[in-house]
Amino acid sequence: TDMTEIIDGNEVAQEIRDGLVAGIDGLTDSGTTPCLATVLMNNDPASQTYVSMKHKDCEEVGIATRDIELDPEAPASALFDTVDELNADPEVHGILVQMPLPDHVDEREVLRRIDPAKDVDGFHPENVGRLVAGNPRFKPCTPHGVQKLLAAADVETEGANAVVVGRSNIVGKPMANLLIQKSDGGNATTTVCHSRTDDLEAKLRDADIVVAAAGVPGMITGNMLSGDTVVIDVGINRVETDDGSELVGDVDFESAKQKASAITPVPGGVGPMTRAMLLWNTVKAASDESGVDVEL
Ligand code: NDP
Repeated sequence: TDMTEIIDGNEVAQEIRDGLVAGIDGLTDSGTTPCLATVLMNNDPASQTYVSMKHKDCEEVGIATRDIELDPEAPASALFDTVDELNADPEVHGILVQMPLPDHVDEREVLRRIDPAKDVDGFHPENVGRLVAGNPRFKPCTPHGVQKLLAAADVETEGANAVVVGRSNIVGKPMANLLIQKSDGGNATTTVCHSRTDDLEAKLRDADIVVAAAGVPGMITGNMLSGDTVVIDVGINRVETDDGSELVGDVDFESAKQKASAITPVPGGVGPMTRAMLLWNTVKAASDESGVDVEL
């Protein structure tokens, strides 16, 4: 409708970054410059772009970086050795291993190997467990970003019917876990849908908040929603167009906007938030490690 709020992820992400600068400066002044190390072990252009954006984001707020690239043909042990070195390096606070990894490297083994105190993605089993137990150390960046977007748009999650579409370890599951926490940004009655869900439309119709993370371009359309729904579109899908290609979400923006009370665009919604929350987690890691308090 004309009243529909378009939630501007770029703007909220900028506020998050601005809010981190004082803490970063404080840490640096007391002798701890927060530092994020990235490890890239693939030749995928999209992954390379993601990693270089992460470095640029760090640079802008005063977070130091390490940039490690490994030959995708190298043995898994090369990656394990790199992780071990970064774990042992007192100047490194956050370690991010960019996915995907080559087939001969066991992703789970890598995630287990990262020091949980430096696991700024929040994917180490210890950190997953802490999140589920209601005592999170690092909230995974994308769902944490969604939580911040909802807060910025003054969306009350407490008592709301939230529907998460997708159950991946990086988005859907941690999103649902955050939404059911007994804390701010949680207390929602949360339904998790996936490809085997029977009658997704009935679930969507009952939703006050929809978080779409299915990876299916435009699968959620306005006619599936009741009025007044808050729609957060996590999807980032490249689709072919007449003159090349473009990025679209899992939500058909134009029709959903007619029904939603608030909606995020793609691009410019959740994407920038994911990047901002990685900076947040890196600052938290540096603060925890150094014992220098930072208000987060
Ligand atoms: P996955 O492919 O790992 O998971 C997709 C999930 O959606 C699965 O649980 C799958 O069900 C479910 N699903 C697929 N099709 C349907 C359907 N038709 N109806 C209901 N559920 C369905 O993807 P990710 O979680 O990694 O990513 C999801 C999307 O978010 C992608 O577009 C990705 O690019 C984007 N993304 C965006 C980020 C950002 O920063 N904005 C960060 C990370 C991802 P099942 O388990 O049964 O297979």
